[in-house]
Parts: sequence; C-alpha cells; structure tokens
Amino acid sequence: MALSRRNVLGGVLAGGLLFGFDPVRRSWLGEAAAGFGGNHVPRLDGTLRADSAAITEASDDFGHIVHRTPIAVLEPGSVEDIAKMVRYARQNKLKIAMRGQGHATYGQAQVQGGIVIQSSALAAIGQIKRDRVTVDAGVQWADLLRATYAQGLTPPVLTDYLELSVGGTLSLGGIGGAASHHGAQVDNVIELEVVTGRGDIETCSRERNPGLFEAALAGLGQCGIITKATVKLVPAKTNVTVYNLYYTDLTTYVADQRKILADGRFDYLEGSLVSNATGGWDYTIEAASFYSPPGSAASIPTDLSDDQTRRTQLDESYLDFAFRIEPLVGLLKTIGLWATPHPWYAAFVPASKVVDYIGDLVSGLTIADTGGGPVLFYPFKRSLLHAPLLRVPDEDFFTFNLLRFPGDPTVVPGQLAQNRMFYDDLVDVGGHQYPLGSIPLTPEDWKKHYGRAYPIFAAAKAWFDPDDVLTPGQGIFPQRRC
Ligand SMILES: Cc1cc2nc3c(=O)[nH]c(=O)nc-3n(C[C@H](O)[C@H](O)[C@H](O)COP(=O)(O)OP(=O)(O)OC[C@H]3O[C@@H](n4cnc5c(N)ncnc54)[C@H](O)[C@@H]3O)c2cc1C
Repeated sequence: MALSRRNVLGGVLAGGLLFGFDPVRRSWLGEAAAGFGGNHVPRLDGTLRADSAAITEASDDFGHIVHRTPIAVLEPGSVEDIAKMVRYARQNKLKIAMRGQGHATYGQAQVQGGIVIQSSALAAIGQIKRDRVTVDAGVQWADLLRATYAQGLTPPVLTDYLELSVGGTLSLGGIGGAASHHGAQVDNVIELEVVTGRGDIETCSRERNPGLFEAALAGLGQCGIITKATVKLVPAKTNVTVYNLYYTDLTTYVADQRKILADGRFDYLEGSLVSNATGGWDYTIEAASFYSPPGSAASIPTDLSDDQTRRTQLDESYLDFAFRIEPLVGLLKTIGLWATPHPWYAAFVPASKVVDYIGDLVSGLTIADTGGGPVLFYPFKRSLLHAPLLRVPDEDFFTFNLLRFPGDPTVVPGQLAQNRMFYDDLVDVGGHQYPLGSIPLTPEDWKKHYGRAYPIFAAAKAWFDPDDVLTPGQGIFPQRRC
C-alpha cells in the first residue's frame, strides 16, 4: 500500500505504521498486530508521529524543567484531524494537549503517555479585512503582524516576544504595553473555532455559544482546543518614539506609572527593574507613542518625578519597535541561555498593595536570582479586562514578571521554592499568578486562583470535556478519568 497521507491509518514511525492503540497494554500496535485487536487510528489528513525527534521535542518546553513523554505527536492536516484525535483519545482513555510554540515554562503543554497536537502544522492566515482577520491557531504573532502591516493594519495588543502562537497566547491572556489602552489579547477576539473535549468542532463568540467562548479565552486549554481565531485589527502607525524614565524609589515609580496610565497619552506603557551599581534595583518606565508623519509623538508629562538627567528617547519604525527583542533573543540563543532552565514567576498585584508586596520581594532579590533576565513591572486598568478566566485583581494592578535565566540548573529547585513563597505572599495581598510561570500548585491552589469563577469553570470543564481528556499539564482539575 502506498504511504500517501490520505490513505494510511495513522502515521509513520521509523518506517512502520501506527495502526492502532492497545488500551490494555497502553501501547501502539503496528500493522502485524492490528488485526489482533486494539482500536484503529482514524484516517488522517496529517501525520501521527512517534519517532524520537517528535517525542523528544514534545517532552520539553521553554522552561526545560518538566519532561513528560507522550506516546505520539499529531501534526494535523485539518481541524477534522484534531476532532478525530480527541474522539480517539476519549475512546482509548488517552490525554491530549495542543502545543503551540512550546514557550510554556512548567510542562503546561506536555502529556505523559498521551498525545500532543502540534498547532504549528495549521498556520494559515485568512483574508485580511479592515477590522479583522481569521487565522489558524498555529500562526505566530510575528507572521500575523508582518502580513497585516503590509496592509497598514496591526493587532491592537502585541506580546513583547512575537514568536508565540495565536492559540497559545489566547489560551493564556496575552499582555503587552498596549494593554493599557486595549485590554489583553483575549479582549480583542471576535470569534473562535474550538474543538471541545467531546471532539466537536464548534464556532463561538460573545453572541453565539458564549459559554464556550468564555471557557476557551484564557481557559488554559481545559475545555477546548482553539483551532481558529478571528482577531481585531486596527490601523497601524508608521513611527514610534520610546521614552525611558528612571527612578531610584519604588513609591515614586509606582505613583508616576499610575499617573501615566490615567493620563493615557502614550500608546504603550511598560516598565521594569534595572540592577544598579550598589547591587540593588532601580526602576524604569518605558512609554511609547505611535504616530505617522506629519503627526508627531506625544511628549513626556511635565509633572513626573523621575531623574531627568537619565531620560532617554529613541525614534524607530513601528515594525522595529514590535520586533525590538529579537536581537536579545538571538544573543540568548547564541550564548546558550535559551536552552537552559527558566523557572519564571509572573504575578498580577493589586495597585493598592504593590509598594508593600514588591518592596518586600525586591529587598531580597539579587541579580543571581534573575540571572540577568528582565524583570517586567508595569500597570493595567482593570476596567479594560473582560475575560472571566483571566484572573486579575478587582482594582487596577501591576504585572510583575521575574523572567529568570539562571544558566545553572542546580539552582532551579531553590528558585521554584522561592516562586512558591512569592505566590503565597501574592495570594495574601489579593493578587493572582499570570499562569505562564513555574509555580508548584495543587488543584486546591487553582480553585482559590479562580475564586468565584471556579464553579462556572468546573461546570464548563465537565460539560465540554466530560472525560477529562484535555491539557492535563496545567494540573488545574483533579484527574477524573483516563
Ligand atoms: C520569551 C517569551 C516571551 C513571552 N512574552 C510574553 C508577553 O509579552 N506577553 C504574554 O502575555 N505572554 C508572554 N509569554 C508567555 C506566553 O504567552 C505563553 O507561554 C504562551 O502560552 C506561549 O505560547 P505558545 O504558543 O508557545 O504555547 P505553548 O507553550 O505551546 O502552550 C501553552 C499552553 O497553552 C495551551 N495551548 C496552546 N495552544 C493552544 C490552543 N490552540 N488551544 C488551546 N490550548 C492551547 C497548551 O496546551 C499549554 O497548556 C512569553 C513567553 C516566552 C517564553
């Protein structure tokens, strides 16, 4: 039989075919064994792989801390492939996770003994309209931006790093400096196509099937796999002026960040900690104004209390600004720090508690704790965030992202324990984790994390994924079956 992708049952492994799964032995059956039992793999448009290259890649992520070995990796040739594989997983008591670009840091897209679906195999960008575009979930924001910018358009909110999949960030939230005007990426989605844990392909939006829409956006892959997203577009400006303002005092920094957030003149607002000569930390506001000549950039407000002698200004193109961290990523890859563990910590801290919480945390933080990685620290307007499963404080808040690049793997257990300590203090002040990081959590912690949203989330999980097939790597719900 010719091994064309459309007429084989399943996929190719080192010259052999995956014909079926034996649910008793929990292993694949080759062609010879297929006649003796086991459940046949459905006919696929894509490929089901179990070769070591595919398995090794799917057993790792950007964190390089957790390693879970799946039994196969699906490179889907169609959305129907994903639906078939979810139904097949239900039938055979297997678990499934979609993997985007693998930038999770703590095994969130991994599945021990299950099937990983590689979203990068589905990466088509649909017709770009004036205010929207429909894309496959495997599209990277970098490719989407290049395509839309060619037509004078941009997604309103971009992450700092653009080589993340659309499905991956919409499953999480998707934040960046433009969230100060537009909310998170999940607040800028018009419609989704989702394969539920039942194996159904469904379309949902705020008006149509809103329960699934709300369960999928920032839903960490628990109720459905996002396969397509219709995302908003806005006119793109051509130029950007970026200002950096420096502070030695946390209270002054926080006050000025809140002033700038309320003022609203800048299109982008971020900020971070900067290590200083005495081994402590200073703070910098990064505020950017987007414009197209003959328009001009907004100027810095006159009532700020930064050290004016340290102010910097950079003028660049919108695309250079959007891709600004690419050179740093290239450097980190070259010196090997992309491939070492990344026990990241990401938090949303209520603005009213941020000086105390960050003051305490930073007083014990050293450059050895970060490995020189960025420590992002900037504010959000609560009123702009609407996705119920993106858990944030009930007031304006700051994100604090400790993006650790320790280099030395032996420090990782200690840093994970430190993340957990930071998390316990965060919960005490009414904050929430932003679930991109590496914090050891129990289902009980997740229940507290979701708070009043938990009963609805748990009910949606039970309805849309009744056999508990999807995305076990997040560890949110106690395992029921499979
Ligand atoms: C260098 C770097 C920079 C980052 N910068 C930002 C930033 O500026 N802003 C920000 O908000 N985040 C940022 N992140 C975090 C990032 O958004 C998340 O880690 C995101 O989940 C990664 O996307 P991914 O495509 O790599 O997903 P993966 O790591 O492959 O998957 C993450 C989780 O989402 C699930 N998932 C993936 N695709 C789908 C889908 N289609 N449907 C359902 N579930 C799915 C997976 O199963 C897994 O649980 C950054 C991460 C890194 C490593």
